[in-house]
Amino acid sequence: MIRTRFPPSPTGFLHIGGLRTALFAYLFAKRNGGDLILRIEDTDQERFVEGGIESIVRSLEWAGIIPDEGVAMENGAITQKGSHGPYIQSERLPVYQAHIETLLGNGHAYYCFCDRERLEELRKMQELNKQPTGYDGHCRDFTEDEVEKRLAAAKKAGRAPVVRLKMPKEGETVFTDLVRGDVRFDNRLIDDQILMKSDGFPTYHFAVVVDDHTMKMTHVIRGEEWLSSTPKHVVLYQMFGWELPQFAHLSLLINEQKQKLSKRHGDVSVEDFKEKGYLPEALVNFVAFLGWNPGGDREIFSLGELVKEFDFQHVSKSAAVFNREKLDWYNKAYMKALSKEELAKRALPFFLQKGSIQGITSDGDVLADGFVTLAWLEEAVGLEQERAATLVELVDNLDFLFAAQLQYDATLLVWKKSTAEETKKTLGALFTVFHAIPEESWTKVHLEKTIMDWIQKSGLGVGDVLWPMRVALSGQKNSPGPFDIAGVLGKEKTMERVKRGLEKSVGVV
Ligand code: GLU
Repeated sequence: MIRTRFPPSPTGFLHIGGLRTALFAYLFAKRNGGDLILRIEDTDQERFVEGGIESIVRSLEWAGIIPDEGVAMENGAITQKGSHGPYIQSERLPVYQAHIETLLGNGHAYYCFCDRERLEELRKMQELNKQPTGYDGHCRDFTEDEVEKRLAAAKKAGRAPVVRLKMPKEGETVFTDLVRGDVRFDNRLIDDQILMKSDGFPTYHFAVVVDDHTMKMTHVIRGEEWLSSTPKHVVLYQMFGWELPQFAHLSLLINEQKQKLSKRHGDVSVEDFKEKGYLPEALVNFVAFLGWNPGGDREIFSLGELVKEFDFQHVSKSAAVFNREKLDWYNKAYMKALSKEELAKRALPFFLQKGSIQGITSDGDVLADGFVTLAWLEEAVGLEQERAATLVELVDNLDFLFAAQLQYDATLLVWKKSTAEETKKTLGALFTVFHAIPEESWTKVHLEKTIMDWIQKSGLGVGDVLWPMRVALSGQKNSPGPFDIAGVLGKEKTMERVKRGLEKSVGVV
């Protein structure tokens, strides 16, 4: 049974790079009928952020990545499910303690009593001498008696030693990575890593190995930034006599300026993208293609389709470029493909948050008191469905529908091939034509037919009429089509806006 894991530290929001790692681990597990396990790595208590676990679980859930085992949320509270728990590292201290004793017992780890001052001094000297920095093995070869004596002294002084890995000082550590092939590290360059800190907490390196083994992980899929840690992990597996999992290190995510994605350069958390109005399925599809593609031209894949296609042969070694335009392209494509009903449902929280509307009503005077029907909202979002790249953009672009009075320059009403005088006349005539259309026939189709017939009969140019009509109704030169807008605004609002356009155009002449 394939078992993969996603083990974030709860240091804030889920980073977009974290989403990619989680997604690849999920896709690989699901592709092979396996399980994804969510583990929380909170051994660095200083970096713990209140609400960090909840926000990660929620972001994963929003993206549709539901772990099979591990940390989850139920009725707003954190829970854990599965038989290999606990899945929160700070609850596993006895497990690490038992394992460190094994390593101390068989001589693969040792107590280190060096205090901070000594380590700082050591580092300074190494830097001055242009030597690689790292622990010099001062406590590595103490006799048993020496260790006992120092332990007793430390205890008396209320200090606790750390435990370090006794890294072999010769040979190579080699492992096969699913993305990079064989990876080799010279053991002499690998530090005697701390495994247990003096506060009784394990370090990342130790906890990750103990957990991945005891939780029966078959595949360790993570970002490239962990590649240089992996030999330390491999050595630990060997010291315990455990079978190695398969490793896969995913390339870095960079922006178009070739910098590592960071908050300083814009949005990086899944939460940011959610708030900007990206659809989860679009973000997931986009993220799946950051460093992977199935070959061929097809770019649109649902999560289920990604599961069917995913493999490591098509995962690239080179850094993946996060291209915002491409994300917008995906989001636009996904928004276009939604039914109007679904689009309205997804956009509703954004309308409410912005205050464009106050709520949904089942009947009554649409747009009065800020309440609209769902059917009306569906028509309204339809105006922007082919145009907006995000839900926020869609909602912003529709501001003009809700404005009590549109603000625009009266000269905008005049089409480039027309005159102010003609514009005024046209708007007056248009008002009369609208007036004659009965309320119950007020549909886009009927309006279009009526106005187009009238244009033909009146001998006016199409632009002479449709341009001022569009500006009067939207206040913009680039807007959805004038008949679509008129249909959504309804007779009363349309006439009100044409009248106002007429009044404004009087000022221009
Ligand atoms: N806790 C590490 C992180 O925050 C996990 C690294 C790993 O997957 O081993 O990314």
